[in-house]
Amino acid sequence: MPQSHDSPPLPTEADLLAGPKTTLDPENWAQLRAQAHRMLDDMLDYTEEIRKRPVWQPIPEEVRARRESRVPRSPSELAEVHEEFMRFVLPYAVGNVHPGFMGWVHGGGTPVGMLAEMLAAGLNANLGGRDHIPIEVEREVVRWASEIVGFPREASGLFVTGSSVANLIAVVVAREAALGNQTVGHRAAAGTKPLTAYASTEVHGCIGKAMEIAGLGSDAMRLIPVDQRHRIDLSALGEAIRRDLEAGLTPFLVVGTAGTVNTGAVDDLAGLADLCQREKIWFHVDGAFGALAKLAPELAPLLDGMERADSLAFDFHKWGQVPYDAGVILVRDSAAHQRAFALPADYLARAKRGIAAGSEWPCDFGPDLSRGFRALKVWFTLKVYGSEALGKAIAHNCQLARYLEGRIAETPRLELLAPVALNIVCFRYRAEEPDTVNEQIVVALQESGIVAPSTTRIDGQVAIRAAIVNHRTSRAEIDALIDGVLSFGNAIASI
Ligand SMILES: *Cc1c(COP(=O)(O)O)cnc(C)c1O
Repeated sequence: MPQSHDSPPLPTEADLLAGPKTTLDPENWAQLRAQAHRMLDDMLDYTEEIRKRPVWQPIPEEVRARRESRVPRSPSELAEVHEEFMRFVLPYAVGNVHPGFMGWVHGGGTPVGMLAEMLAAGLNANLGGRDHIPIEVEREVVRWASEIVGFPREASGLFVTGSSVANLIAVVVAREAALGNQTVGHRAAAGTKPLTAYASTEVHGCIGKAMEIAGLGSDAMRLIPVDQRHRIDLSALGEAIRRDLEAGLTPFLVVGTAGTVNTGAVDDLAGLADLCQREKIWFHVDGAFGALAKLAPELAPLLDGMERADSLAFDFHKWGQVPYDAGVILVRDSAAHQRAFALPADYLARAKRGIAAGSEWPCDFGPDLSRGFRALKVWFTLKVYGSEALGKAIAHNCQLARYLEGRIAETPRLELLAPVALNIVCFRYRAEEPDTVNEQIVVALQESGIVAPSTTRIDGQVAIRAAIVNHRTSRAEIDALIDGVLSFGNAIASI
């Protein structure tokens, strides 16, 4: 096209180097750099000095109210925004970095994981697909994950937000395998079968949610009773499967749990593997936190049989101490995994060379297209600390659980409510109205900022639940928990 006489002048070399006026990069990189170093130091101080802080503190009304503002239209100094973060965000986190945090099942994170997150954000990689080395790093970490849990090297895998999504992916892959391997896009014509799934009454709620999202309905999931140790009753499971087969239903999935959320129980995974092999049913293990107990030689035998599963979901953000979020799904039969999620699109066409090479792509194995570089923080964590150190931290958590169990046994006012299999201890303070008293004790402990357990129900009764997941937790926090439960319990019960 000929240049018209009023076209803008060509950019000079200086213009090209400076970039457009609209760029979001700083004008003064030296200033940004100094501020960046301050932010890094503040966050390192936070972790180094975490023991000086309360585990958690209630959010003052004025602090909450600050979060009601409108979209900021004009700029602020980075230093000012960081100041706002330091004063009004950082102090009011949930507290899982702190060694006194024992609620739910939260990992403690590490400085190395934090630094890796920064690098991943700087690289700003999109791991949906294409030919770039971050995808090879993810594949490497997925193979490490397979090696840790005893899966074959060829198993497929994917980093996802957490075990909720990993379990959902497993339910979908199992569903597609049961419906007979049709290719994506031709399922409507294939018809459906009434599929039924099985797990214990202690199964995590995300499996029922996954059944709903997968269109199967949580009512298609049979909740099988558990034994004294809160493990699935294998004969009741066999019976339920037989009944459904006789009724013309198609049992397609058994979910075993390696570390139940309530008590840390581990199902008889070898028994489940045998049964699934016999009945030709997909065997999935939800190992959200428990699977990584494989890293501790003294705990690994508890998980025997897990390596025989068709699929396994677990988190690196719980017992792997990797900062949130980092869940993983592994599938033994990678072809079955891919059949459930690969859907061609013109704009995602694959090539033999160039950036569009490197198929199969991660987006062929899960629901996400754009995906961050979660694997990098796991890569750094495993390389820097080594798997043995993670295993030792896991074993130490379980020793602390045993120590807590012992302290409960020697304290007449306290009572253990469930057997301790791994790192979770459920107990209560004996009182006239135990449910209300124990609920109040837990709130008082949380508000004290000293230790933060949560509650659950065991056989219908409110339990104080200490899930010891943080690598920073020591006997001092267990002793503080016992002392706190007794002093708040005595005060509350005598009112
Ligand atoms: C935490 C947990 C889940 C859910 O995992 P998220 O990472 O929170 O999505 C599932 N199952 C068990 C046993 C869990 O402990």
